[in-house]
Amino acid sequence: MVEQSTIWQAMDAAHHLHPFVDNGALAREGARMVTRAEGVYIWDAEGRQYLDAFAGLWCVNLGYGRPELAEAAARQMNELPYYNLFFKSSNVPAARLAQTLAELAPAHINHVFFTNSGSEANDTVFRMVRYFWALKGHPDKKVIIGRQNGYHGSTVAGASLGGMKSMHRQGGLPVPGVEHIRQPYWYDEGGDLSQDEFGLLAARALEEKILELGADNVAAFIAEPIQGAGGIIIPPSTYWPEIQRIVQKYDVLLVADEVICGFGRTGEWFGCDYFNIHADLMPIAKGLSSGYLPIGGVMVADHIAETLKQAGEEFSHGFTYSGHPVCAAVALENLRILKEERIIEQVRSQTAPYLQMQLQTLADHPLVGQIRGVGMLAAIELVADKHSRRRYDGNGRVGALCRDLALKQGLILRATGDTMLISPPLTITRDEINILVERAGQALDATQAALESES
Ligand code: PMP
Repeated sequence: MVEQSTIWQAMDAAHHLHPFVDNGALAREGARMVTRAEGVYIWDAEGRQYLDAFAGLWCVNLGYGRPELAEAAARQMNELPYYNLFFKSSNVPAARLAQTLAELAPAHINHVFFTNSGSEANDTVFRMVRYFWALKGHPDKKVIIGRQNGYHGSTVAGASLGGMKSMHRQGGLPVPGVEHIRQPYWYDEGGDLSQDEFGLLAARALEEKILELGADNVAAFIAEPIQGAGGIIIPPSTYWPEIQRIVQKYDVLLVADEVICGFGRTGEWFGCDYFNIHADLMPIAKGLSSGYLPIGGVMVADHIAETLKQAGEEFSHGFTYSGHPVCAAVALENLRILKEERIIEQVRSQTAPYLQMQLQTLADHPLVGQIRGVGMLAAIELVADKHSRRRYDGNGRVGALCRDLALKQGLILRATGDTMLISPPLTITRDEINILVERAGQALDATQAALESES
């Protein structure tokens, strides 16, 4: 008898083009069909269980299977399944969510513009910062500066603002009016400098770029508080204060992309709280609904919101599903649980320090060059030589190998190049952290063994 999972895989291979996948290779191998999830675990169609150390795609902050979120969706579906926000309409969940977000965000941020995703949030940023400066009488302030190896989404504006070369190569990006500066990635690029020296150097690249372009032409700088997809790159402590000084000096808006860092990932509500960043705009998504339904947005500082309110015309921008009532109701319930169960406090004071401490037990492994982390984010650098930080040849081959071997141990990790990324649900317990670290150690051993058998 043909297994049900084989039938599903064949269906998928025949008709489904996947995101961020070599679709030819996937069709040959067959996708891992995920059918069920509970807490920090997922199961595939063949009944195999995996500890999801990646919270889906950095988003399932509450863990899987919270019935309250399903019930909130069902209640809202029955009451008002859809109505839009265009042309002076609103709905109650969207209004309540906007108020709740304003309470959670830093004091100077009290408005939100809703989108369906992080990418749409950054497309909104792209248009909003230019429109803002035009309203202020500075229509030439148009250029947005992002960072090499930053990630801001997959739409045309999102991928342009991001600095992923592989994405720019496809489709002729970035669009005009976007520039990139170096990233604050000390481990790969810091050489002999101390972390603090390197943090300043990387931040000053922004000042150089602004001077090169002319401050009168620069609208905004966009960056993730901690780069996620680029490799969980935690900037040295000197970096953000220097960035803050520079944007203030040249009157450039600061956009802190909170799509990953927001809603507790760092042990604070926002990455801006963790680093004490004073942002003008904060794109959000993912943890806003713990990924249960798609919803994102841009949190907007008062001075920008007031400028938009005084424009005397329509802001010609928005999405059919902006502030979708069912998504907003689920996001509200997600935020209620995060608050009432004090999950972020628990992360900050208990589980994140435990995760980071346990991961350090892997630091002596011969493959491991560095283990770093903040909150429920951690990266393991795989290297050929610990002391010189030299990488293996093959451009991410070892990271992909380790990721695949981790799957065999029942652990979902992600690899960016040869950097292994960890970002579990915020609700992970100490016992589950022990399992995560044990399986990660087994994956490292298996990777080491595979590399040795090659040579
Ligand atoms: N910004 C950041 C920092 C992200 O990590 C992501 C997604 N990984 C996005 C934006 C894009 O979000 P989405 O996939 O929801 O469009």
